[in-house]
Amino acid sequence: MKVTDHISQAKDTLISFEVLPPLKGKGIEALYRHLDPLMAHQPAFINVTYHRSEHVFKKRADGSFEKVVVRKRPGTESICAAIMNKYNVDTVPHLICGGFSVNETEDALINLRYLGIDNVLVLRGDAAKNETAFEPEPGGHKYASDLLQQVVNLNAGVYLEDELKGTHKTDFCIGVAGYPEKHFEAPNMDTDLQYLKKKVDLGADYIITQMFFDNEKFHAFVKNCRSIGITVPIIPGLKPIYTKKQLTILPKTFHIDLPTDLSNELLRCKTDEDVEKVGAEWLLMQSRELKKAGVPVLHYYTLGRPKLVAEVVERI
Ligand code: FAD
Repeated sequence: MKVTDHISQAKDTLISFEVLPPLKGKGIEALYRHLDPLMAHQPAFINVTYHRSEHVFKKRADGSFEKVVVRKRPGTESICAAIMNKYNVDTVPHLICGGFSVNETEDALINLRYLGIDNVLVLRGDAAKNETAFEPEPGGHKYASDLLQQVVNLNAGVYLEDELKGTHKTDFCIGVAGYPEKHFEAPNMDTDLQYLKKKVDLGADYIITQMFFDNEKFHAFVKNCRSIGITVPIIPGLKPIYTKKQLTILPKTFHIDLPTDLSNELLRCKTDEDVEKVGAEWLLMQSRELKKAGVPVLHYYTLGRPKLVAEVVERI
C-alpha cells in the first residue's frame, strides 16, 4: 500500500521507522533482531536506506593506482522484499542518483515493481567519501528532481527507450527529502524551498524531513512550505541521541543545530546511561508535541538504538 494511502486512511498519527541494510557479509538475521522490538508498534511502513559503496585508491608496485571497494551495503531492494514478507508491512526503498546510470535506475524500478513494492523515496545521495562535492555518474542524474522525473515518467509508462516492448506503467508513491534547517549546499532557505517545491510540482507525493531537535524549526518549515503552495503531507524525521559524541557528530554530519537546553543537559551527563535517558526524554517530548500538533506520521531513524526508540514510542 502507498504511504499516502496509509496517511489518508489513518485516524491518528502513524509510526514509521528507517533502517540500514546490513554491511556486506552480515546476514539479514541482524536486521530482523533490530526490527523485532520495533514491529510491536505496528509501523505503517519501514524505510530502507541505500548506501553507495566506499572505495580507496591503493598504490600498486608499478606506481599506478587501483580502485578498491572497502565498504558495501548492498541489497536495499531485496531487503525491502524480505521485510515485507517476514512482517507483512509496507517498505520504502531509498533510491539515489549517486552511483547509478539512468538505465540502472530503470532496471531497479522494474525490479521493485516485480517485488510488489509500491513506494520509493527519491534522493540525490551525498558525495562519495573521496569526493569533495557530489558528482553524478556518467549518464546519471544530478538532482533528486531529475530522478523523480524518471519515476514519474515510468508511472506514465514512458521508458528510456521508445522501442522497448512489453512495458507497463508503474504506480509508485514517491517521497522526497526536505530540510527544516536548510540543505547545507543551498545558498539560503528560500532557494532550498523553491527546489523542494519543484520536486512536489513534478509529482512528489509527500516529504520526509531531515532529523531536527527543535520542533519550532519543523513547524516553521511546514508553514513556509504551505505559504509557497506545497500541500503534500510533511513527515517529521526524528532521531534519538544516545552518546555524547553525537553532540558534535550530528551537527557536523547533518548540518543541524542542537538546542542549548538539550546540549547543556547532555554535557552534564556523567555516564552513557545518563545520556540515553536525556536523549529518550527529549525524543519523547518531541514526539508528543508533534503528535498533538497533528503530524501525519512520526518517522524514526532507528540506527543504533531500536530498543530506545521502541520504548519511547510505547510511552507516547
Ligand atoms: P536534492 O533535492 O537534489 O537537493 C540537493 C541540493 O541541490 C540542495 O541544496 C538543493 O537546494 C539543490 N538543488 C536541488 N535542485 C536543484 C537544481 N535544479 N538546481 C540547483 N540546485 C538544486 N543519502 C543516501 O545516500 N542514502 C539514503 O538512503 C538517504 N536517505 C535520506 C533520507 C532522508 C529522509 C533525508 C532527509 C536524507 C537522506 N539522504 C540519504 C541524504 C541525502 O541524499 C542528502 O541530504 C543529499 O545531500 C541531498 O539529497 P536530496 O534528495 O535532498 O537532493
